[in-house]
Amino acid sequence: MDFKTKQIKSIIKTLKSDEKNGLTSQQVEQKKKEFGANQFTEEERISLFKKILNHLKEVTVIILIIAGIISTYIAITQHPSDLSEPIVIFAIIALNVFIAIRQEGNAEAALESLKSLSAPKARVIRDNQTEEIDAVDLVPGDILLLEAGDMVPADARMISSSNLQTEESALTGESLPIEKDENAVVDEDAPVGDVFHTVFSGSLVTNGRAKTIITATGMDTEMGAVASLLNNTKQGRTPLQDRMNKLGKQLSIIAVLAGVLIFILNFFQGEDFITTLMTAVTLAVAAVPETLPVIVTISLAFGVQNMVKRNAIIRTIPSVETLGSASVIASDKTGTLTQNKMTIQKLWAFPHPPIDATAEFGEDEKMLLKMMSLASNATVEDRDGEEVIAGDPTESAIIRLLQEKGMPKKELEKEYPRVHEIPFDSERKLMTTVHKTEDGYISITKGAFDRIPVHFSSITDEVGTRAHEIHDSFAQDALRVIGVGYKKYDDLPKDLSVEELEKDILFAGIVGMIDPPREESRDAVKEAKAAGIKTIMITGDHAVTATAIAKQIGIFEPGDKTITGAELSKLSDEELKGNVRDFSVYARVSPEDKIRIVKAWQANDEIVAMTGDGVNDAPALKAADVGTAMGIAGTEVAKNAADMVLTDDNFATIVHTVEEGRRVYENIKKTVYFLLACNISEIFIMLLAVLFGWGLPVVSIQLLFINVVADGIPGFGLSREKADPTLMEQKPTKKGESIFARGMTRNIAIVATIFTIITLLGFYIGSSVTVDATIGASHEVGQTMAFLILGWSSVIHIFNARSKESIFKIGFLSNPTVFWTSLLSISILTIVALVPFLANIFFLVPMSLTHWIIVVVLSILPLIFVEIQKLVFKKIGKAF
Ligand code: ADP
Ligand code: MG
Repeated sequence: MDFKTKQIKSIIKTLKSDEKNGLTSQQVEQKKKEFGANQFTEEERISLFKKILNHLKEVTVIILIIAGIISTYIAITQHPSDLSEPIVIFAIIALNVFIAIRQEGNAEAALESLKSLSAPKARVIRDNQTEEIDAVDLVPGDILLLEAGDMVPADARMISSSNLQTEESALTGESLPIEKDENAVVDEDAPVGDVFHTVFSGSLVTNGRAKTIITATGMDTEMGAVASLLNNTKQGRTPLQDRMNKLGKQLSIIAVLAGVLIFILNFFQGEDFITTLMTAVTLAVAAVPETLPVIVTISLAFGVQNMVKRNAIIRTIPSVETLGSASVIASDKTGTLTQNKMTIQKLWAFPHPPIDATAEFGEDEKMLLKMMSLASNATVEDRDGEEVIAGDPTESAIIRLLQEKGMPKKELEKEYPRVHEIPFDSERKLMTTVHKTEDGYISITKGAFDRIPVHFSSITDEVGTRAHEIHDSFAQDALRVIGVGYKKYDDLPKDLSVEELEKDILFAGIVGMIDPPREESRDAVKEAKAAGIKTIMITGDHAVTATAIAKQIGIFEPGDKTITGAELSKLSDEELKGNVRDFSVYARVSPEDKIRIVKAWQANDEIVAMTGDGVNDAPALKAADVGTAMGIAGTEVAKNAADMVLTDDNFATIVHTVEEGRRVYENIKKTVYFLLACNISEIFIMLLAVLFGWGLPVVSIQLLFINVVADGIPGFGLSREKADPTLMEQKPTKKGESIFARGMTRNIAIVATIFTIITLLGFYIGSSVTVDATIGASHEVGQTMAFLILGWSSVIHIFNARSKESIFKIGFLSNPTVFWTSLLSISILTIVALVPFLANIFFLVPMSLTHWIIVVVLSILPLIFVEIQKLVFKKIGKAF
């Protein structure tokens, strides 16, 4: 429906809404059916069939299928009565795909449930009540309330507004805010940018407030029309997933080359062509860790879930790994490092000496407090008979003291009604209100002390010096200082601009308020420091106040420096880049300065997590590696631009998420260590045996079985491994640091070597050494031993991978998933060797007790060896 030229009354009528009461619940239900959800496209659910198909397209699975086909061919041509081998191969393919899909499904479900947590919200009037709902649930006819900082969630016609401005660049490309006006007259064919009485989905409210009625939702909005054209954004993979895929491909190539080599060697040693081909193909498959990509996905999803429990909502999955390598945390002071619970402690009513807020007030002090209160927007609300002060914490502190001093705000406002306001602006750090008095008008300006443009005739040099002294003495006690000035008029001035009202004002005094640090902040800063992460404080507060708090929290250390926004603007980008490391406190900064600060640190190769809450913070949040928005105090715009939202606005939470991010990365590394040692040893075992002319120590279906049962089943449990205690004592990983850095290659090589030696040793003993009179040496006994040793030791190796610490220190049962799945895998491998029917299928034969004992002893050697390695490394102070 086109409402462009319609009157607002007729729109409300057409949509059967009510300006005051909003829609009723029944109407909402009905409209939901009619118009659907307020989102751009129904997300297409991938069918199970498609998922299976996707997995069948994986290179490794294709190779497996080829192996299955060859095996079927061999079976049919050579022993048609026994099709067990091809059946087993296809069963293994099915099992593989099943495990992968199931695990991925779990991960997806976990991520899906998080989406609603970070879904945009909207405030509407329904059933005569103001409520906050998920923006997807909006319907045409809803009465939508907007204020600065909101994202516009649907197209809506304005009913009433004050100073509403929106930024519609997503729609029109115009990046300057546009003034909206409910009374604008709009042509039938006016372009979107000229429809001034309507706000559009996807734009942001940069100023003012408005009451509106929704005219279009979802795909019917102007943005929906554009979105349908752009709707091809694919769900991105994280860099880590990309790297793992690449690793998988590289290993595939190595495996295929090894396969080809084995094929050639075997063939020239006169082995049967088809059997040789089969072995080569199987090796190619066996050596590829097919579960790795799935495990990466699961680890990331599990990390995201854990972060929710620790009060952080991840909006972009790659942030999980970026957080893990964060090296700088740039945090707001107010509310994040501090409690944002302000209390006025000291007060200086010029020209008297400063007094404590608890002391008896004289007339001038009372006047100062009254003026500040009049210029504040915090309100006193009655909630179930209890007086509650609501609003900005700085202003709440003022009003609280006012009430305590027995001067109710309501009466004050009646006495001096407000006629005009120039709102607080974090750029100017000032605000001004104009009030009617008995004999005229007064304008009151309150804000940062050093920004109050006092008229110097009202203040002599001496007084000026004194004022600065008092300000600094307040600030040194970590007090946030607010100054107040005023100007009297006989008649309401015609010009109500900033220039007129905030010029030549008379100085009234200052108050100092304390905003205590959060209890957790100090420890969190310390923890970050131990983890090689620098914390910097960014604030609009005065340098002296900010530095005092930064010292208390441990951010500002001897030798550090504080820089102000004004000083910052004098530095070129080059200069800032050169000495940004000197500054740990950035005071009196504006949101624009934040981008420069982020970029300067990034130019020093640092990975920056930065917090923000206001509309103007959005660009800095985007620029940061991990933009972090405040869940409580933050605007929708900031949340929308952020990678992560803190549900408790707490600095310590960021440090926790870093730990979680590192844990995820570590667990993926542990998985790589676990899987690759086995896969790589398989290549060497086969190659060496063929080179020695020993024949094959393990046959294809044995290899496949080991890969799925010994690696696939327990491997998933590593994603749940707890963090190593030393995790937050290590330096952050550098940008692009290889997963093989920090001794990984060495560790894999060591274990792969042990695997190769013990498996070949077992095979040699079984096939050539008579250890038992009843069961003599044979190729089959050798293969049975090799199968069990390789399988068992691979499973047991997971206890090496679980931690840098000794497994006997952390305990086998501290990760129950790994423990029980390992036990399961070992049991399955054993059962296959013991039950005659299964043993037959897998070419396994009975062994004597001596053989079994040798198998057990050899299989636990890798564990013993790595335990010794951990011990020795600890002794010589080397990281495992
Ligand atoms: P922060 O980054 O610490 O939240 P702000 O930009 O909110 O800083 O505030 C910067 C300065 O502006 C404060 O030190 C204070 O002097 C002043 N200020 C803050 N809030 C108000 C307010 N509501 N009214 C007047 N002045 C304020
Ligand atoms: Mg603030």
